[in-house]
Amino acid sequence: MMMIDATDLTKTYNGRGGCRGITLQVPEGCIFGLLGPNGAGKSTFVKMLAGLHRPDSGRATVLGQPLGRPEARRKLGYLPELFRFQDWLTPAEVLRFHGQLGGLRPQETRTTAFRSRVRDALELVGLSEAADRRVGGFSKGMQQRLGLAAALLLDPELVILDEPSSALDPVGRYEIRSLLKQLRGKGVTIFLNTHLLEDVEELCDEAAFLYGGELLASGPLHKLLSGTGDNVGGDANWRFRLGGWLPETWEELNDAVGGALSSLLRLVEADESGNALLTARVTDREQAGYLCALFIRSGLTLYESGPEQNSLEAWFLRMAQSQSRQGGVPQ
Ligand code: ADP
Repeated sequence: MMMIDATDLTKTYNGRGGCRGITLQVPEGCIFGLLGPNGAGKSTFVKMLAGLHRPDSGRATVLGQPLGRPEARRKLGYLPELFRFQDWLTPAEVLRFHGQLGGLRPQETRTTAFRSRVRDALELVGLSEAADRRVGGFSKGMQQRLGLAAALLLDPELVILDEPSSALDPVGRYEIRSLLKQLRGKGVTIFLNTHLLEDVEELCDEAAFLYGGELLASGPLHKLLSGTGDNVGGDANWRFRLGGWLPETWEELNDAVGGALSSLLRLVEADESGNALLTARVTDREQAGYLCALFIRSGLTLYESGPEQNSLEAWFLRMAQSQSRQGGVPQ
């Protein structure tokens, strides 16, 4: 089942900003990262999913239910981008309040079972020691941890986290990453809205890129990074590792393709043992296959052939720059 299934979802603020025509699916059990520069429309999109904004047009289901249904909300944990708790409450009191917001009756939040649930949630986010302190004395990072505890309190099947570690130091970020992996291991689906590319690189199975309110690319992370995603467009970088390379090999291959080799391939390095690394700009996998066949016919050993992995940062910058060159303006 798709935990989130959005078609053409649009929400603007008096015709400006927001996000437009977003179509994306989030499969069950994955960590999905929504990326994009400031003002790309990420928070607007997640607020619609969480039932806080009504879409202008388009449709979506969350946990198989249309947006805003209480049945889906009960199984949904949400950490908003901006959170502020009442200074005079303790974390346990905040969580009791959130339990009621999540649909529990007041008396259900006074049971031993609920108290133990609260203890578990605080332990999960590393706040056990601060359980009896007033929230007013909490650092921003501690408040963010408390927000995460509130999102996880009722064992959600889907968690939507809007910048969950923006206020945390590197140790805190590491802990939250470990926690999110643990949750995925239990089958929880996580929708992560984040600026932190290292989080996406380490955690996400799938990702989408928003820019200027529009979805530019989405799919499995490895496909996006290798440039072979369905909606990424452009040529892919391909790499070949070969054995048996000799000083005359380039010329021989060049003759075999009628002198067009340098328009296809680049020799990155070759050592004295005959190991060589070549890269190519290919338009599709068939073209890469043609080059593999050429190498093998020429008596070379093919050790490796595959899309060249680019770092997420390079991909992010490439996507954003290609948009600003086309006149797209971040909002
Ligand atoms: P992101 O989360 O990617 O930073 P947002 O969804 O917050 O992006 O914002 C997308 C665009 O919508 C921005 O241009 C922003 O200024 C505008 N916007 C967001 N919220 C509001 C609002 N409440 N009223 C008017 N404009 C808004």
